[in-house]
Amino acid sequence: MRRLLARCLRDLTRAAVNGFRRLLGLPAAPLLVDEIRCPRCRCWVAPRRFDLIHMACRTCRATLARPGRGGDLLW
Ligand SMILES: [Zn+2]
Repeated sequence: MRRLLARCLRDLTRAAVNGFRRLLGLPAAPLLVDEIRCPRCRCWVAPRRFDLIHMACRTCRATLARPGRGGDLLW
């Protein structure tokens, strides 16, 4: 559990650092895909939080792709 928490914190720190670099206009570390831009909410999310099958982040999936609802929002 502690190891999982440490990994999570490290990922958060890395994402924060990259976000800060982007704010400062610096390019992110090359050849490293740390974040993917979600086409739905236009937020930068970590790749593990991005669903390539649905092309949406977990947040979007949770809010928009709720199963059993029907309608045109069902992917
Ligand atoms: Zn999203």
